[in-house]
Amino acid sequence: MIYHWQLGTGAQISADNEGAQTVVTLVQASAGQQQRTSNSFTTGIWIAPPHMTLTPTGGILKIITPSGESLIEIQGNSISLQTSHSGTSQSTSSSSSSTFTADTQSMPPMQPMQMGNMQMNMQPMTMRMGDRELTMGATSQQRFCSECGTPVKPTDKFCASCGHKLG
Ligand SMILES: [Zn+2]
Repeated sequence: MIYHWQLGTGAQISADNEGAQTVVTLVQASAGQQQRTSNSFTTGIWIAPPHMTLTPTGGILKIITPSGESLIEIQGNSISLQTSHSGTSQSTSSSSSSTFTADTQSMPPMQPMQMGNMQMNMQPMTMRMGDRELTMGATSQQRFCSECGTPVKPTDKFCASCGHKLG
């Protein structure tokens, strides 16, 4: 069963229920030409004849289905579905999906290991025993005082710790 309405804008609306689909066709006649717009919406099977409410810009088609009311708004040449749930309390709980992101960047930095007066750092690999410090790995540039073992800068001429003249 196809229903027809004449809108105040001069356009013709027809609505048909094909299974769970509501097919709305808008025919606008202007200057001898017909413009046809057809949209289908999954509304469910009509359980009552559709009702058209005319508006200044088109109309609102109310469809009653077992799951509630469906409103199809016709505005100009656009047809859009606006679902309104009457009676049945639809749970509107927004899906609060826990956003778990394995962010390796936010890992806490490795804490230095401390054993007595011995301390080890991983980045860079350094070992401190008492007042002695050893730096390992990626330290080809690193020099040590030949007298006391204190790390010294390559530009140092004398050990900052013991004053030994560096070679
Ligand atoms: Zn020294």
